[in-house]
Amino acid sequence: VSERLSLSTDTEETDYMVTSFNNMMDSLEESFNQQKQFVEDASHELRTPLQIIQGHLKLINRWGKNDPKILEESLNISIDELHRINKLVEELLLLTKNNPRQLEEVETVNIIDEINSRVDSMRKIHPDYHFAVEHSHDSIPFKINNHHLEQLLLIFLDNAVKYDTEYKYIITKTEKHNEYFDIIIMDHGIGIPEEDLENVFNRFYRVDKSRSRQQGGNGLGLSIGKKLIENYKGKVWFESEEGNFTKVIIRFPLNEGNS
Ligand code: ADP
Repeated sequence: VSERLSLSTDTEETDYMVTSFNNMMDSLEESFNQQKQFVEDASHELRTPLQIIQGHLKLINRWGKNDPKILEESLNISIDELHRINKLVEELLLLTKNNPRQLEEVETVNIIDEINSRVDSMRKIHPDYHFAVEHSHDSIPFKINNHHLEQLLLIFLDNAVKYDTEYKYIITKTEKHNEYFDIIIMDHGIGIPEEDLENVFNRFYRVDKSRSRQQGGNGLGLSIGKKLIENYKGKVWFESEEGNFTKVIIRFPLNEGNS
């Protein structure tokens, strides 16, 4: 892909064509490299659980028939790793697929009700956490595929829980303005170092790989969340202080088309 055009010409038009061609080749090359990187990263992520399963199957084969403890432990680990592979494959499909049909399945939902019910389920799953909710208005009608909304709330609430294991205090807020509304989820956990704030939305990016893996993470959640938000012309970014708090701000535009 590294061929470049360098005609010697004196007409402006040909100069323009040469520059356009070279720019096009540059962006093709960049997109090719990104795809390549994606495939490499995905294969790498799949390799680890596969190797673990392989190791445990060998253990079962060698010792498991006579030792029920080894058999049970190795089976449990293999099942966990299979779950991990399953989740990864599901998420990879979600990331690579452009699903226009799902975008058509939008309905007007009250964002406030959806958030309250998501937070309620989080309270049930994590009774040791404190979940606070603050809304500036009683209702924010917005056109969205409910499944997408659920999915993205889950991604950010899950992360808040995963990375706030000490204070266990999570606030979910909504703030409605004339032209947009914000959903803000704030935890009081480990925070994100400033230099990582932008990168965390990249596929497979994790500030602390081993910590994320321990908690079942694969570094795809935020890139999926961002993609879902951008489907509705929204934006998302983090504000954080290491060791203090992490705040994610999700901003959706309100206009005649989608509110
Ligand atoms: P993972 O599966 O690793 O959680 P994500 O894509 O959801 O993947 O997040 C990417 C990385 O961003 C995480 O590994 C973590 O380092 C960082 N991160 C995300 N949310 C938070 C948070 N609320 N507090 C601290 N770090 C976070």
